[in-house]
Amino acid sequence: MGNVLATCEVRDGTIRGVSHEVVTAARMLAQQLGGSVDALVLGPPGCATAAAALGEFGAERIFVAEAEDFAVYHPDAAVRAIVALHQETDYAAILFPGSAMGKDLAPRVAVRVDAGLATEVTGLDVEDGQVVATRPQYAGKAIARLGFARTPAMASLRPNVFTPQPAAGAGDVVAIEVASEPRRARVRGIESGERGRLDVAEASVIVAGGRGLQEPESWSLLEDLAAALGDGVAIGASRAVVDNGWRPHSEQVGQTGKVVSPNLYFAIGISGAIQHLAGMRTAKVIVAVNKDPEAPIFGVADYGIVGDLFEIVPRLTEEIRAVRTAG
Ligand code: FAD
Repeated sequence: MGNVLATCEVRDGTIRGVSHEVVTAARMLAQQLGGSVDALVLGPPGCATAAAALGEFGAERIFVAEAEDFAVYHPDAAVRAIVALHQETDYAAILFPGSAMGKDLAPRVAVRVDAGLATEVTGLDVEDGQVVATRPQYAGKAIARLGFARTPAMASLRPNVFTPQPAAGAGDVVAIEVASEPRRARVRGIESGERGRLDVAEASVIVAGGRGLQEPESWSLLEDLAAALGDGVAIGASRAVVDNGWRPHSEQVGQTGKVVSPNLYFAIGISGAIQHLAGMRTAKVIVAVNKDPEAPIFGVADYGIVGDLFEIVPRLTEEIRAVRTAG
C-alpha cells in the first residue's frame, strides 16, 4: 500500500498555504508509490468548508476533526488522530509542514509510530519502491539523501520548496471524532508578529536587512522597497540586528532563526556569514547590496550590487516602482 497522509495546518479557521504544499508533495509521492492521498485537518467548528479545498490539490479523503478545542494547535489530539489513521490505513509516508506546528508535531508522531523522521526536506523520491528524502545539511554545504529503515517514512517539508499544484478532481470530506482529553500540553495562544506582515518562512519575496543599516530607523528604506515590490513581501533580518534589539526574532533568518526558500531574497547590508547562509541559500534568486566587494554574500548572490545601501536602496525602490507602475 502506497498511501500517503498529509498533515495540514489551520490558523484562525483558514487552511494555511503550507498545507497546499504538503498535499502537493504527498500527491507526487503517492503517484510514484501507486497509492492515494489522505489529508488531516484539526480545526474549529466550520473549518470543514475550507478543508474541502484541499481536494483541489490532490487529497482524495480529507479527514476533518472540528472542535472548539482545536481552534489553536492541540498536539495531543493531533498525535492521537494521526496514530489512529495510521493504524487503519498503514501509510507508506506521513508528511508535515516544516512550520512551527509541524516541527513540534512530527517528532511526537515519529516516537508513537516508531518510525524515522527526516526534517527540512527539500525533495522526495521513490527508489526501488522505497521513499528517499533529500535535505540540505552543514548549512547547505552538503545535500543528504536519506532512506527510511521502516514505514511510515516521515518527513517535515521546508516551506516554499514544494510549489502547490492544483490537481483534477475533488476530495471527500470525512468527519472524524478526536478526543481532546487527556492532554499533556496546552497551546495558550499564538502571538503573531507585526500586523498584516507575512511570516518570512512563508513569503515568496523577502527583503532582509543586516547591521549595515546602522540603526533601526533605517528599516523604513526596506519597508519602502517591500511596498514597491507589491503584496506578500516579508521583512527579514540577520542575527546581528536581532541581537541588537532592532528587529524581532521572528524575522531572523539563519541557523538559529528561520530557514526560508523564497523566489526572491534581498540581502541588504548583510555580510553573508555561514550561519545566515544556512537559512537562505536555497532562495531561488538572491540580490545582495553591500559596500564590501569581498563580502561572502556575493558568493551566493545571483545579482550583486557593490555600493552604499543608503544610495542604492532608494534608487532600486524608485526603479521598481516605475517599472511596476508602467506595467
Ligand atoms: P555584519 O557581519 O556586521 O555585516 C554587515 C555588512 O554590512 C558588512 O558586510 C558590511 O560590508 C555591510 N555594510 C555596512 N555598511 C554598509 C553600507 N552603508 N552599504 C552597504 N553595505 C554596508 N546570523 C544570522 O544572520 N542568522 C542566524 O541564524 C545566526 N545564527 C548563529 C548561530 C551561531 C551559533 C553563531 C555563532 C552565529 C550566528 N549568527 C547568525 C551570526 C553570524 O555569524 C553573523 O555574526 C551575523 O549574521 C552578522 O550579521 P550582519 O551580516 O548583519 O552583520
